Amino acid sequence: MIEAARPNRALSGLKAYDPGHDLVALRALAGAHKLLELGSNENPFGPSPDALDAARASLQLAHIYPDPGGRALKRALAAHYRLDAAHITLGNGSHELLMLIAQAFVDPADEVLYAQFGFAVFALAAQAANAKARVIPALALDAEQPRGHDLAAMLAAIGPATRLVYLANPNNPTGTYFTQAALKGFLEQVPSRTLVVLDEAYFEYADAAKVADARALLEEFPNLIVTRTFSKGHGLAGLRVGYALAHADVGATMERLRESFNVNGVALAAAQAALADCAWMHNSVRDCVEQRELLAHGLRDLELLVTPSQTNFLLVDFRQPAATIEANLLACGVIVRPMGGYGLPNCLRVSVGLAADNARLIAVLRDILDEGRA
Ligand SMILES: *Cc1c(COP(=O)(O)O)cnc(C)c1O
Repeated sequence: MIEAARPNRALSGLKAYDPGHDLVALRALAGAHKLLELGSNENPFGPSPDALDAARASLQLAHIYPDPGGRALKRALAAHYRLDAAHITLGNGSHELLMLIAQAFVDPADEVLYAQFGFAVFALAAQAANAKARVIPALALDAEQPRGHDLAAMLAAIGPATRLVYLANPNNPTGTYFTQAALKGFLEQVPSRTLVVLDEAYFEYADAAKVADARALLEEFPNLIVTRTFSKGHGLAGLRVGYALAHADVGATMERLRESFNVNGVALAAAQAALADCAWMHNSVRDCVEQRELLAHGLRDLELLVTPSQTNFLLVDFRQPAATIEANLLACGVIVRPMGGYGLPNCLRVSVGLAADNARLIAVLRDILDEGRA
């Protein structure tokens, strides 16, 4: 590396987010053969047609800057959540907000806490802020959830230096979750100087009777930040819109660092239209959940361990190193997400596709596993 390229201290240990495979290269290689892309938890049902119409119409204004405050979308979100718009911060995907939060609130001497197998961006955010990361070992919540967040251990680990705790509920890649009672009990014991970030990217997929809804706790806990996204349930991953809900003071601090035009005009328009057509989102979520349960059933029929999921993906444990299986799937044009980077080398994460996609995955996997046994 040339001397001029030397990164700052925070960056020296930092590796960029690993998006799995180079999909652009793989698509070029596959040519006419259709790849089955089940590696990125995208929504195969796509966004509301209204969102696409709004996106197209917004191109009329491609030559002008978007509203730097994203006010129309914020107003719509504020009405949706019955909050004042001052509680909302928009991001270029929630990924950007998760990074920004660490940069905005954490000093190098501070600690950032997150769980083993917690979403990969938490580690990146802590590192980019040059903070001390503390990773709390995962816990078997019950037989069905072998790798959950250990909230009690996280609480016990919070000390005077703990500025930030990242939780994902449901978590990616484990799909595990905790309840409203567990979250409330946790927040009641977190010191008020410590911020708690609840990453709820899969909120739309989660069963409200089981999985906590952190929005309901915002008024009670001013140190709580909830992040959500239009990438998953609303099917707008390509346009990059996420948002944080937080106390107005916390939001104001985030606003200081937020780049004015971080969400572009097409994305703002599409997200607003998507939010106005929640019926579409609910239908796509319902269909996905139905497919998810069928897929889980099919995978368990292959004698694989599947963590019950409250998301649009499944964590599949092959009970043997999964790298060869993953390579064989790739050779058959099926892309899933390897989990070695998470310390789960026996696992693969599989996004729920359309019915025909899931059937193809099961068929290809059955052949691969049969050949492996033969
Ligand atoms: C997909 C995902 C995100 C959302 O990413 P965007 O930047 O909003 O597309 C955030 N957190 C988790 C846990 C995710 O899986």
